[in-house]
Amino acid sequence: MRDDGCAGGASARGESGLVTDGTTGLTCRELVEVLADYLASELGRDARSVFEGHLVECRDCLAYLRSYAETMRLAKHAYDDDEAEVNVG
Ligand SMILES: [Zn+2]
Repeated sequence: MRDDGCAGGASARGESGLVTDGTTGLTCRELVEVLADYLASELGRDARSVFEGHLVECRDCLAYLRSYAETMRLAKHAYDDDEAEVNVG
């Protein structure tokens, strides 16, 4: 017996191309540009809240942020293992 999990064939369109009316003030591209600053805690309070506000509404950017943060973490760990006794003078 087949289990058809696909109920209803309604095409869920409607939000494509929807642009918020300057509420977020940040496009996906701009978010990516300040992503490194955000992770380094170098964003100002206002920029930070705008950044996080975008993440709440944009799953794409949230997913991107997570994978980026994960990559950074892994990279750091790899570096630590490799150069355990590095001297930063
Ligand atoms: Zn976005």
